[in-house]
Amino acid sequence: MGECIVKVVVGLEIHVHLATRTKMFCGCELAYGGSANTRTCPVCIGMPGVLPVMNRQAYEYAVLTALALNCEIARFTKWDRKSYYYPDLPKNYQISQYDLPLSRNGFIEIPLEGGRTKTVRIVRAHLEEDAGKNVHTLGPFSAVDLNRAGAPLLEIVTEPDMNSPQEVRILAQELQRIVRYLGVSEGDMQKGHMRFEPNVNLHITREGQVFKTPISEVKNLNSFRAIERAVAYEVERQRDEFIETGVTMQTGNKRTFGWDDANQRTVLQREKEEAHDYRYFPDPDLVPVELDDAWLERIRAGLCELPLAMQKRFVSDYGLSDYDAAVLTGDRDTAELFDAAVRAGAEAKRVCNLLTQTGLKLANERGTTVRVLGIDAGRLVELTTLVEDGQVSATAATTIFEAMTTCDESPGGIARRLNLMQTSDAGEIESLVDEVITAHPKAVEDVRSGGKKSQKARGFLLGQVMQKSGGQANPRVVAEILDRKL
Ligand code: ZN
Ligand code: MN
Repeated sequence: MGECIVKVVVGLEIHVHLATRTKMFCGCELAYGGSANTRTCPVCIGMPGVLPVMNRQAYEYAVLTALALNCEIARFTKWDRKSYYYPDLPKNYQISQYDLPLSRNGFIEIPLEGGRTKTVRIVRAHLEEDAGKNVHTLGPFSAVDLNRAGAPLLEIVTEPDMNSPQEVRILAQELQRIVRYLGVSEGDMQKGHMRFEPNVNLHITREGQVFKTPISEVKNLNSFRAIERAVAYEVERQRDEFIETGVTMQTGNKRTFGWDDANQRTVLQREKEEAHDYRYFPDPDLVPVELDDAWLERIRAGLCELPLAMQKRFVSDYGLSDYDAAVLTGDRDTAELFDAAVRAGAEAKRVCNLLTQTGLKLANERGTTVRVLGIDAGRLVELTTLVEDGQVSATAATTIFEAMTTCDESPGGIARRLNLMQTSDAGEIESLVDEVITAHPKAVEDVRSGGKKSQKARGFLLGQVMQKSGGQANPRVVAEILDRKL
């Protein structure tokens, strides 16, 4: 297929669990784990005659996310019943939003390599409720756990604007960063807080003619790696299939696939366009939502600077590399701590190194976040200033940083307590230099000869002085005095 140009075309449908305390239409607690069917009530197990009541917090989280995704926010929306039969959906319908979603026409900007970005359009974002969970691992039967039934879900649909498996994965990661920054979802992939369904096909140009392969939808991907691999797999599979059969959208059907993680391949679930008739109709038990100016503005006040904007600002204003800025903005608390320390006068690259090399490492080891380490901007500024002024070495700074996570003491206090202060006392250092010069006449001669051995001999003498000081002399001051005396 040498003379063909293959364009990958992918759109995403995403479901995000919102981190409310209770479910979407009842007061049952939302929590991960727990015994099956203990967090249920007549509303979320679908008893007849019950009355659902909308969770206001869920609505506000949904609108906040839609604002962050640059969507138009609807001032009037309603709830619709989407009918289908499935064991984990005892009502036989899902409460969702059909023709009047709470938002539409937005976009998300995603970071590509080298500081470039790309804009992916958002078709709509609406609220709905999750179904329960079928469990097939208990024996020769299936069981249903309804703890998750009725959990608030934000469904986000993008335009098919992504053109590679990497772009799809990056969008998923960027959305995770956004919902975490906003605090609307924990975005924990392992707990199924975010589920992704890519729609993939190829536009193949051959001899001036464009052939579009049939669309594959891959259901329920819940890891970034699976997202990228599933799309990559579909790209290969569709290309091979087109070469073999010449099938296109006109001659083939849309198909639904699952992802077989063990074998790293997609598996066909359904073929043929099922004429889905969800019999959508307005839910008569729920009042429509009218969002007035005051309410919308109150929600808008919950917006924060978004991660990608912050990442770009760290590059442009503080001179960080795109890589460093991306690492720092991986987590909002870390990014804000860094920002606050730099605004308070700390040197950006040095704070960045302390946070990314020491802070994030410690947080990872302890299975927590930098915020929980208990280090504030004030102490970070003091610590970086100590390093800048040559009062403590960069190595000592790491030790002090670690000690800061277990006490409230100031960096200077810790440095003195642990004997990590470097001495810049010229008199004290001078006498050490004199001792070393007297003890090593051969090395002194080598330095003064200016020959090949000069640099090496100088390094040796410097090392001797540092050793005599117990590593506490400021190396810059030692070098100055040594050079003067030689
Ligand atoms: Zn309930
Ligand atoms: Mn949905």
